[in-house]
Amino acid sequence: MTDLLKAIPHQFNHEEQALLRKALEFAAKAHAGQKRKNGEDYIIHPRGAAIILGQIFPDTTTLAATLLHDVYEDTGVSLEDINKNFGEDIAKLVDGVTKLGHVRFRDSKDKFYVENLRKLFFATSEDIRVILIKLADRIHNMRTISHIPKDKQVKVASETLEVYAPIAARLGIGSWKDELEDLSFQIVHPKEYQETKDIQVKELSSRDENVKEMQKYLIHTLKNEGIKFLDISGRVKRLYSLFHKLKKYDGDISKIHDIIALRIITKSTADCYAALGAIHKHFQPVPGRIKDYIATPKPNGYQSIHTTVIGKGGKTFEIQIRTDLMHEEAERGIAAHWFYNEEGKNHPFTRGLQAPWLKELRAWQENVENPEEFLENLKIDFFKNRIFVYTPKGDIKDLPSGATVIDFAFSVHTDLALHMMGARINGKMASIYDELEKEDVVEIIKNKNPVKISPKWQEYAKTNNAKSKIRAFLNEQNRGLIQRVKDMSFPLPKFFRRK
Ligand code: MN
Repeated sequence: MTDLLKAIPHQFNHEEQALLRKALEFAAKAHAGQKRKNGEDYIIHPRGAAIILGQIFPDTTTLAATLLHDVYEDTGVSLEDINKNFGEDIAKLVDGVTKLGHVRFRDSKDKFYVENLRKLFFATSEDIRVILIKLADRIHNMRTISHIPKDKQVKVASETLEVYAPIAARLGIGSWKDELEDLSFQIVHPKEYQETKDIQVKELSSRDENVKEMQKYLIHTLKNEGIKFLDISGRVKRLYSLFHKLKKYDGDISKIHDIIALRIITKSTADCYAALGAIHKHFQPVPGRIKDYIATPKPNGYQSIHTTVIGKGGKTFEIQIRTDLMHEEAERGIAAHWFYNEEGKNHPFTRGLQAPWLKELRAWQENVENPEEFLENLKIDFFKNRIFVYTPKGDIKDLPSGATVIDFAFSVHTDLALHMMGARINGKMASIYDELEKEDVVEIIKNKNPVKISPKWQEYAKTNNAKSKIRAFLNEQNRGLIQRVKDMSFPLPKFFRRK
């Protein structure tokens, strides 16, 4: 028990410690005699998962549920028992995790696949804590995967790569995404893993001196300019993301500027911009390589300024600038938002739980009748890249790439969409069928009266939000038409009459 508490960087009060102790003892008793594949006592696993979760989300209720997460599935203990001993909240979490455990992503021909996937995401939007427990569970299983047979390893690792890592990414939990990806990458694509690793090692050894030198220059420059910072350190690109980038550039390593980046951590946002200014004053920036994710965060909440500069000796360096809070957020993602919310602290970063995609997901998953369509939609909305576009007033809309003016209009307001007759993109006249690009400013031109919706709209809508509304309105329109035909009491025009 002391080990468990020591391993989690958080001060638990007496009451919290008592709850965790009770959960650990309850789970140990329930799993007594059970062994893992490597011969260890089973309790090592829920304990390990709790420690992993505790690193980013030291919430006592969720930690207790993590300790108990396999009890209902694997031992004779019932949910009522858990409810009696630990209350409804914890019992519900255990139930949610158990149900998620039945989701099989591995065999897409499985009829239950899509249905269960739905449940997974339903659970996501209903209680994100279930997903956090399940991700911690998977990380622990991945860390200890060498004990299971090779063919099973590949199955588990591909599922991790295809489903679990993208979910961690979407929730903004960078540290978990990175670990899940790199652990699975090695098992699913061993050859590519080794090749990528060789490239990384070579790059690191050839640039090591260079990077250290640049780090010194940067520290010197910022100090001279009187800019406050907490830390400047090197960060090495993770293997799986390096692998993807190499693929994108046909293996041309000279096109990749961020295998090693220097990361500056500051106390305030103002210091981030001050640091950027000082750096650009002393080092030539590479055009088109400045990305301000502080002003425009990524859809998962990621914030940082990235710039690439030409350092001493003509070598390019990527520099990332962020505050300590932003850094913590990049590592903990949605878990950081939740925790601060629950504690009732006045914390500026509360976007996470209101993430538009999460709300949208919840809204349309309730209207799905056809599981295949659901899966198709899920692929598009959940995993594809997203773009930011702006309303004329500067409100940001988060849309999937490939989205059109139609999607934009529905994302602003259904009523606006039903009155649209055209649009202006960046001040220029455009069609409602035009595809949007990132950072476009989109203005909808309204008709006085509602317009007739054309079935063509459906073809050009990319978001589920727009698609499902268009479908509903088209059905409505058709019903209205049939009704009007039925209501026609006047005689049909002559040329319609049968001879
Ligand atoms: Mn487990």
